[in-house]
Amino acid sequence: MIGALIGDIVGSRFERHNIKTKEFELFDDYCKATLDNGYGMFVNMLGYKLSDRGKRLVKVDRWFPSSQICSCCKSKQHMPLDVRTYECACCGCVIDRDLNAAINILNEGLRIIS
Ligand SMILES: [Zn+2]
Repeated sequence: MIGALIGDIVGSRFERHNIKTKEFELFDDYCKATLDNGYGMFVNMLGYKLSDRGKRLVKVDRWFPSSQICSCCKSKQHMPLDVRTYECACCGCVIDRDLNAAINILNEGLRIIS
């Protein structure tokens, strides 16, 4: 399963974060397989639609630590799930956790295609 991906469809950015929460652990194997299949089909359709428009789907590794890396100075620190604001101990950058992760995923996607 792909943990995170970034694409560009009709001029708007799309991203998905790896979801590893306690709620997800409550799903049984059948539900997990169904979710994986649905997600896999969605990714295939997204790739197809993007290539139809001359664009490209870039997949970022599911283990890429997007929320643990500072989008300003690239240092890495542990981020518990309940901490919603990233406060960098190195450069002092303070940014919303999801925005920080989105910037890191975008940069990783750009790094992959370069
Ligand atoms: Zn920093």
